[in-house]
Amino acid sequence: MVLKASIITRNYRRNLKIRTLVKMGGKCRCCGITDNIFLTIHHKNKDGGLETKTNRYRHYSRVCNTNDYSDLELLCHNCHFAVTHLGKCIHDI
Ligand SMILES: [Zn+2]
Ligand SMILES: [Zn+2]
Repeated sequence: MVLKASIITRNYRRNLKIRTLVKMGGKCRCCGITDNIFLTIHHKNKDGGLETKTNRYRHYSRVCNTNDYSDLELLCHNCHFAVTHLGKCIHDI
């Protein structure tokens, strides 16, 4: 039963993520890549740690359930890493 529950949770989260990505335009704001597996959500105000501290998926639910996500943008992992650590992506230079 534990195994089954974890599969349900995983599917739920995957669906939640995909619904979120579609709602946000489905591509990296910076380089335009559209593969779901590469996409992640960037907190523009750098307060992501706060929001995801108790629930890693809270911002996904927020995008799906409200229209209040102007502080978030869709980036791929490469661009997200660059923006987070360098302040801007190499594509912006
Ligand atoms: Zn990108
Ligand atoms: Zn980029």
